[in-house]
Amino acid sequence: MPSAETFKALLRVQDLTREFVSRRGLSTRHLVAVDRANLTISADQHEILTIAGESGSGKTTLARMMLGLVEPTSGHMLFKDRDVSHITGGANRKWFRRQVQPVFQDPFATFNPLRRIESYLYETVGNYGVAPRKTADEPIERALNAVGLSLREVKGRYPSELSGGQLQRVSIARALITDPSLLVADEPVSMLDASLRMSVVNLFRELKARQSVIYITHDLATAYYASDRVAIMLRGWIVELGPVQKVLGEPKHPYTQLLKTSVLEPDPRQKSTERVSLATSDEGSFVRVGCRFADRCPHVMDICRSVEPPDVPVDGRLVKCHLYESQSSTEEAAEAAAPLVASAT
Ligand code: SF4
Repeated sequence: MPSAETFKALLRVQDLTREFVSRRGLSTRHLVAVDRANLTISADQHEILTIAGESGSGKTTLARMMLGLVEPTSGHMLFKDRDVSHITGGANRKWFRRQVQPVFQDPFATFNPLRRIESYLYETVGNYGVAPRKTADEPIERALNAVGLSLREVKGRYPSELSGGQLQRVSIARALITDPSLLVADEPVSMLDASLRMSVVNLFRELKARQSVIYITHDLATAYYASDRVAIMLRGWIVELGPVQKVLGEPKHPYTQLLKTSVLEPDPRQKSTERVSLATSDEGSFVRVGCRFADRCPHVMDICRSVEPPDVPVDGRLVKCHLYESQSSTEEAAEAAAPLVASAT
């Protein structure tokens, strides 16, 4: 097993931060949507890394930065050792876009109801120079086959003639046309019926044979089912990061523990019986000193109200919490933060 020092990184996110400023009258508010996020995806082993959190946690902003759609305020992002933190245009941007493809939440909004489905696929082939027009069918067929469809099935059809599940598959096929190294899927099943969700989640598991996937979701049940590793976000922070069996099986951070008891279902094919909202969108909590969970944490201590908690390695994962502070060591921290290839046991 390679050490945490020797793995090659596909994507390295270092202290990535995005701040938004809103002005209301004479007052100005600063909202740090993502605060010094650190993540690494290995180049040596494909994985599904889930970024999970409630609405307002910063997960979608982090995803959009990783797609190059939102510029970070500070921090860095390296993809295949190239700094892509502020990709603006030209060949570099095209190269990055070919390598890192998005899958968006709403397949119904992705496609214009008046355009034939295949036009999007041919357009992608052309935009990225994947193949000349006369051989464009080949990469399209390959991508559609990978999601269980064929060109014959979709050619000539309009979005309204396909089901939501089929449309999301076409949307994923469009993302696969450039043969990307990484898919970033933002809530890709949240608009689908429960009956279709698992088939799309299973599709991502199959696609892991071809590339890594970053799966953004508020749904811990599908996260548990689909992921290799999971990062839990709370108010702009990653508060727990590690292998899914550890983070969701035996959570250490008080917030992850609360999430698990509130919303996690052991079997995502079963219907949810109860959803407890843990959404916390009060802007004050993003800028408060100390721990951003202090107002609701059952283990809160004096230090939590004045000092930001460190990232502490605990049992193979990183936990941002004062409770575990005395257990930390630099070596363990590096191992706990490392991607699957270096951290799996
Ligand atoms: Fe709770 Fe303190 Fe840990 Fe925050 S740092 S989660 S308040 S124990």
